[in-house]
Amino acid sequence: MPRYVALIPAAGSGSRMRAELPKQYAPLAGRPLLQHAVRTLCMHRLIEQVFVVLVPGDVRFGKCDWSGCGAKLSPLYCGGETRAASVFNGLLAANDAIDGADWVLVHDAARPCLCTGDIDRLIAEVGDSETGGLLAVPVADTLKRANAEGEAVQTEAREHLWRAQTPQMFRYRVLIEALRRADIAAVTDESSAVEQTGAKPKLVQGSTNNFKVTYPEDLALAELILKNRG
Ligand code: C5P
Repeated sequence: MPRYVALIPAAGSGSRMRAELPKQYAPLAGRPLLQHAVRTLCMHRLIEQVFVVLVPGDVRFGKCDWSGCGAKLSPLYCGGETRAASVFNGLLAANDAIDGADWVLVHDAARPCLCTGDIDRLIAEVGDSETGGLLAVPVADTLKRANAEGEAVQTEAREHLWRAQTPQMFRYRVLIEALRRADIAAVTDESSAVEQTGAKPKLVQGSTNNFKVTYPEDLALAELILKNRG
């Protein structure tokens, strides 16, 4: 039986947060931001191991309270220049612990409001496929194309457009091969690398709560969601 493991890239600098601390360590609802998603993944009954990819020399991770995460948690100090490079380095570093047919759920540390139901739905809808898939949300807003002056020049059709989220779930051998072949500097998510091989990852309806904390004002919304959830 293939196993499920998670890999969390957490080696970014979070420059858009305009803060001294890297985004993954920003305080959020009483914990470092990173801890929320790590705990949700560690506590999931089907996920056997959770790899967290950190900047080489990261000194903050070891100081966090990881009680409740048990033996599932494995930090890897091999983050790269880009998110995709961090994911690729992490997959290589975890090679001995993962089988080619195992499922890897790659999840951004910067999405702290991931909930167990999202993971359950992704696994239920993708776990029988060969290719894999990702959480995503259909685009709800009207889309405008702008000119160089920031003026609307066209309204784009939004049918069939989705906003990609994470986790993105692929078999280890599919993902590592796709990333090996891809132009890593141009890869913004795992699905795009897999799509370039001709495969068609499944889009699984996610929740808008699972948004990526990017700007300082996003922290207040994430805090509200987490506190309401209790
Ligand atoms: O910067 P952004 O919010 O798009 O990053 C998404 C995720 O990728 C974050 O969890 C961040 O820590 C991670 N990342 C990484 N290595 C990088 C850049 C980003 O692990 N070089």
